[in-house]
Amino acid sequence: MALVVQKYGGSSLASAELIRNVARRIIKKCREGYQVVVVASAMGDTTDDLIKLAYQVNSAPDKRELDLLLSTGEIVASTLLAMALQSLGQPAVSLSGSQAGIRTDKAFSRARITDINPARVLRELEKGKVVVVAGFQGVTEDMDITTLGRGGSDTTAVALAAALRAERCERYTDVDGIYTTDPRLLPEARKLSEISYEEMLEMVTYGFKAIHPRAVELGEVFNVPILVASSFNENPGTLIHKEVSMEIRNKVRGIAHDTDVAKITIVGVPDHPGIAAGIFMPLAEAGISVDTIVQNASIDNITDLTFTVARSQLKHALSVVEPIARSIGAKKVVSDDKLGKVSIIGTGMQNAPGYAARMFDTLSRENINIQLITTSEIRITCIIDEGRLKDAVRALHRAFELDKAT
Ligand code: ADP
Ligand code: ASP
Ligand code: MG
Repeated sequence: MALVVQKYGGSSLASAELIRNVARRIIKKCREGYQVVVVASAMGDTTDDLIKLAYQVNSAPDKRELDLLLSTGEIVASTLLAMALQSLGQPAVSLSGSQAGIRTDKAFSRARITDINPARVLRELEKGKVVVVAGFQGVTEDMDITTLGRGGSDTTAVALAAALRAERCERYTDVDGIYTTDPRLLPEARKLSEISYEEMLEMVTYGFKAIHPRAVELGEVFNVPILVASSFNENPGTLIHKEVSMEIRNKVRGIAHDTDVAKITIVGVPDHPGIAAGIFMPLAEAGISVDTIVQNASIDNITDLTFTVARSQLKHALSVVEPIARSIGAKKVVSDDKLGKVSIIGTGMQNAPGYAARMFDTLSRENINIQLITTSEIRITCIIDEGRLKDAVRALHRAFELDKAT
């Protein structure tokens, strides 16, 4: 019997009525002849509410306690979903991440799955039950409960699909697929029928909030096709998989944007070997991840060094960089946190000239100043003023003809 893993996000499980709706959809899949494993996220905004509660009782909550607390959100949703299935006559059982055999490392709040022992899940499936697994959580070898980072139920679902050798993973949410850009920002965004893992990974890393990056990564490594579709209608959805047609390969597929950017410039840095390591090693040791780095050509052995970090890490990064800047005799440190990133993404730009020129030309026609540029083989990113992000997305979406049907 073919097996699928279905994941339902918080918006799809936000009320008792919606949970019953999801239960009916699961039963429909069973009637089509599938064994179904379901991964449930916490209902609606439960995770945010639990975090707020924790901070009301302690301004610096212990990470172990916080993870155990947050794991309960997914347990509430899975047990209710199992009960809804049972009330409709479908045998079902809910399991916590730990009961489902999901083991992780000890990094509370951002744990990584180390392995999955799906024996219990398989036993329940054999009994003809739908198995509902609480997403976003696992257990360490010391039996502490961990969580996998915000949005981590996607990761649970794809990892389980890989461990169970499921035919595919279906991710149900409140939009009916992956769009060429965030449909809430640009109503003319179009739904993609399919997309490669590689493109999807760049899109989610550079701002699409449509699926957790780690889930896409696991999908690619274990070759699990992932369908993104809506739990509110029967529209076809978007398939994330390995093979996409040649015609589609030759295009820009999406415009991603992100506002979580801050820029730091160290002005007047004496340029000699070891200077960059002297700045970026301490940043890495402080757990700050640096994105774009630009070093100007030096004049009279003096240069400027600019880099970006997540906005939430700006203060911390400045506290690391300012004393270093003073100690190496740099002139000053300046920062800006009113920035955004806009990226064009598509395997089509690999080995094909002209994409960068068209992007820069489009932004210049909109009178948008580009502050920094970074690229990968299938992506070009410009860092611009945050206030102009929406204009940039709209102009690029039109320039690369993403509003037209493929
Ligand atoms: P869930 O409640 O199911 O976990 P999420 O908030 O994690 O839902 O993901 C769905 C949201 O992702 C949508 O409401 C949509 O606005 C947002 N999103 C951002 N970029 C895109 C995109 N390019 N395509 C589709 N959805 C996107
Ligand atoms: N409930 C968790 C969160 O809100 C995990 C998830 O929904 O995937 O981040
Ligand atoms: Mg989510």
